Amino acid sequence: MSDTIFGKIIRREIPADIVYEDNELIAFKDISPQAPVHVLFVPKTPIATLNDVAPAQAELVGKLFLAAAAYARREGFADDGYRCVINCNSHGGQTVFQLHLHLLAGQALRGGFA
Ligand code: 5GP
Repeated sequence: MSDTIFGKIIRREIPADIVYEDNELIAFKDISPQAPVHVLFVPKTPIATLNDVAPAQAELVGKLFLAAAAYARREGFADDGYRCVINCNSHGGQTVFQLHLHLLAGQALRGGFA
């Protein structure tokens, strides 16, 4: 498993507000939310960045998005909408080097990318 802070959450070495988990991924609330809803979807297998995803892991990346959509439906904001973001490396703003998808929702989000 990953040796990042997210690996520690996966291994229950540090606490997190976990909202979903299955054999392949875990989802928990971001400690520093950037929107009323801010959940991180993290594969349990250690993959540092989007650059490191192997072709054979394409389905796993798809499952991050599907889990986010399922969460949005379950929590009742799928129709209002939400944003899914994966940051990669320094210019992308990545700070934790275990692949993760940000789900942001709960208000109309600003447009733009910076
Ligand atoms: P990145 O910048 O790598 O795309 O996103 C990392 C995210 O992880 C940030 O939004 C940050 O707030 C969140 N984060 C960092 N450390 C922790 C932690 O210990 N617990 C939780 N729940 N989120 C964390």
